[in-house]
Amino acid sequence: MSARILDGAAVAARLRAEIGDQVTSLVAEGRRAPGLAVVLVGDNPASHVYVRNKGVATRKAGMVSTEHRLPGDATEAELLALVAQLNADEAIDGILVQLPLPAQVRPEKVLAAIDPEKDVDGFHALNVGRLWGGETGLVPCTPRGCMKLIAEAGRDIGGMDAVVIGRSGIVGKPMTQLLLAANCTVTIAHSRTRDLSEVCRRADILVAAVGAPNLVTAAFIKPGATVIDVGINRVAKPDGGLRLVGDVAFDTAVGVAGAITPVPGGVGPMTIACLLENTLMAYRRRMNG
Ligand code: NAD
Repeated sequence: MSARILDGAAVAARLRAEIGDQVTSLVAEGRRAPGLAVVLVGDNPASHVYVRNKGVATRKAGMVSTEHRLPGDATEAELLALVAQLNADEAIDGILVQLPLPAQVRPEKVLAAIDPEKDVDGFHALNVGRLWGGETGLVPCTPRGCMKLIAEAGRDIGGMDAVVIGRSGIVGKPMTQLLLAANCTVTIAHSRTRDLSEVCRRADILVAAVGAPNLVTAAFIKPGATVIDVGINRVAKPDGGLRLVGDVAFDTAVGVAGAITPVPGGVGPMTIACLLENTLMAYRRRMNG
């Protein structure tokens, strides 16, 4: 038996098209398009690629995308001034500060300065608190995308056992809250978990968000489980190039799981689509509809 492949690229394309249709309707009614500002500090090559991809997707959905670049030696005060300016800009509904930031800038200071109603990454403490309080508004994009892929598997997940490997603030922890809100019984596993494979084998839904290639083998997977692979790892190919793999040993896992996301083409495309969804949500809340 081979698992159903949860095609994140296709689900994300559908979501982006739906969002694009909603933006087209808003503009046809004579309203302004939603606006997303992305801030990039320094020249981390991966961050440049992410920011470019976000800008392209935003514009394709009919939204306004603005990019704000600061040099790698920018001060925290300069970045905070830019955030304040974007907070005050009526045409901007979402603000995303691309992480990581250079060492001289404290990310917690910058994230705390973003207007929580424009916090489309869902990293502001107020939005984190809202999520842990059971409100699912502006929640981090990657876990939001994972939930949509879990739904794509077409199973009623209420009461299921879910295991999330990884406890980061951007993926693991918010993922657990979304699963809890969906009435799963949730376990968080991490680098200090004892007998990880045993813990994972209990899971009807297994989410791997670690950053360790092939950590999750077929032996970790309950037959028929839904497996969501968040990991993005670059590993060497025999020809010397690099290829992307997740945290799950896909080739063997696919024979045990009931549904599974590939890497690439699984969770990754969902993250940007959910950023657009958050931006539209922030716009509607700010504009009252
Ligand atoms: P992180 O480094 O902040 O957290 C990793 C977590 O994994 C930690 O909580 C740690 O306890 C746990 N861990 C480490 N080694 C472990 C082990 N051997 N066994 C069990 N747990 C272990 O990483 P992150 O920011 O949460 O990202 C996780 C992965 O997801 C990375 O590969 C990252 O690139 C990827 N990611 C993908 C997307 C996407 O859009 N697809 C978005 C964000 C992150």
